[in-house]
Amino acid sequence: MDTGELNAWWRRLPRPSATTRLAWGILSLTVSLILVLDLLLGIFPSEQARLRAVRERAAVSLAIQVKVQLTQPGGVAVLKRTLDELVRSSPDVGSIGVRRADGVLVAATAGHERGWVQRADGRSTLNSVIVPLNEPDGRWGAVEVRYRDDPAATGWRGWLGDSMLTLVLGLSGIGGLVYYFYLRRMLQHLDPSQAIPDRVRAAFDALAEGLLVLDSQHRIMLVNEAFTRLYPAQGPLLGRPIHELAWLQQALSRVEGPAPWVQAIQRAQPVLGVSIHIEQADREPRHALMNCAAICDAKGVARGCVLTLDDVTELDRANARLRQAMAQLEGSNQQIKQQNLELEKLANHDPMTGCMNRRAFYARAERLFAQARSEGLHLACVMSDIDKFKNFNDTHGHAVGDQVIQQVSRLLQDSMREGDLLCRYGGEEFCILLPATSLAEAMRAAQRMRERIEQEAGPGVHSVPGLRITSSFGVCTLPEGRVDTLDKLIEQADAGLYAAKEAGRNRVRYAPGVEMAEV
Ligand code: GH3
Ligand code: MG
Ligand code: MG
Repeated sequence: MDTGELNAWWRRLPRPSATTRLAWGILSLTVSLILVLDLLLGIFPSEQARLRAVRERAAVSLAIQVKVQLTQPGGVAVLKRTLDELVRSSPDVGSIGVRRADGVLVAATAGHERGWVQRADGRSTLNSVIVPLNEPDGRWGAVEVRYRDDPAATGWRGWLGDSMLTLVLGLSGIGGLVYYFYLRRMLQHLDPSQAIPDRVRAAFDALAEGLLVLDSQHRIMLVNEAFTRLYPAQGPLLGRPIHELAWLQQALSRVEGPAPWVQAIQRAQPVLGVSIHIEQADREPRHALMNCAAICDAKGVARGCVLTLDDVTELDRANARLRQAMAQLEGSNQQIKQQNLELEKLANHDPMTGCMNRRAFYARAERLFAQARSEGLHLACVMSDIDKFKNFNDTHGHAVGDQVIQQVSRLLQDSMREGDLLCRYGGEEFCILLPATSLAEAMRAAQRMRERIEQEAGPGVHSVPGLRITSSFGVCTLPEGRVDTLDKLIEQADAGLYAAKEAGRNRVRYAPGVEMAEV
């Protein structure tokens, strides 16, 4: 693992929280203070030193006893028994010996010679205690007491039994935990708002949107007035975990997945426009949009979150009103369009028959005529007039006369193709324009119309049974008619109509000016 990998691994390690670091700092200070005090004042005596002092005191009192016994007759034998008794009754004592200055053991318990290890400088150790026996004229010898190894005072158990170590370890464990939980509780209840300058607070309060700042544990660190206006707070909000706000949880019940602030902190990315509905017992429900943006440190790790709530209830209402107005406007538009269509129809059509009037007919017919002339296309004009129409009026009245006109126009309309023009030209006269229609086709079309009128128009007038209605037809075509205006084409067709009347009515005639050889 090179340095780069090591650094990356170190950065990936979870960082202890601020509370943990604070607790660790205080603990280190406390332990350091105790160590310094012990160093300066020696307040915690070593367990071994204490044991050694006790052993030395015991050996001294033994030495006094030995000295007394040696001065008595048979003292060595008595001394030997005393020493044996002492070793038996003291489990921590291995052996005892009384040695003269010349090195001869005067009295000793079993194994003393073998087990005794004399230090070069003749001084006591923890397990080998020497107490000199002096006489007025100099050193007589010494009492040697060999102690067994005390597991409670030596090795790891002895080390553990050291009172200062116990204190340091105990403090590190229990003290660390106590500091941590105490600080956590205290920091939680510290008012974070005190750390925010008044000007900043005023700026937050001036916002129309509700605003919360959460820490990484989702506790509320800051709240502005607009947020409390959106839903009146019950009790202080600062320091409380946001998930304790029941109304907000309820408002988010329709939102899938983790809460938006959890997502924002986990992904270190903003979560925007979450639609929520806030239900309130004594107020109308509010619709709000929630935005959450993570607050990241220099390394890009999310340390908290800014949450905003935008109350869009009024906007919704305004939108609904606007939609309603738009729908009404759309309805009015349709109505106006319909009325315009009707107006246009009235302006361009004859109300009794629904046929085009002359004005509308001429506007369209002129275009068709010009196109046919310029492109050399066929164009046929048919003039039609109801035969002896005056008789219907005179015999049956104008109402029946109107019905006769309507029946004839219905049959003519029914005979039109797409693109043909039909115009009520006069009282019972009709003018028909058939684009792309040759002379022969026009004559056949006029004959078909004539036949249909003869067969169907009379039976169509139900008010007068047995009525016989016929029409005469005059035809003129381009290019055969050799006319250069629309009026002349109509004139020629009218001449054909006149010829048909002259010939006895109920027939079709071509414009008399055009020689039939050309037809
Ligand atoms: P023909 O064309 O066969 O020579 O004889 P006609 O009787 O049809 O001739 P004329 O053109 O003289 O008669 C047309 C009559 O139609 C004159 C007019 O009173 C009548 N008329 C014109 N317009 C209307 C209308 O809208 N309704 C009714 N009922 N009569 C109309
Ligand atoms: Mg007529
Ligand atoms: Mg007429």
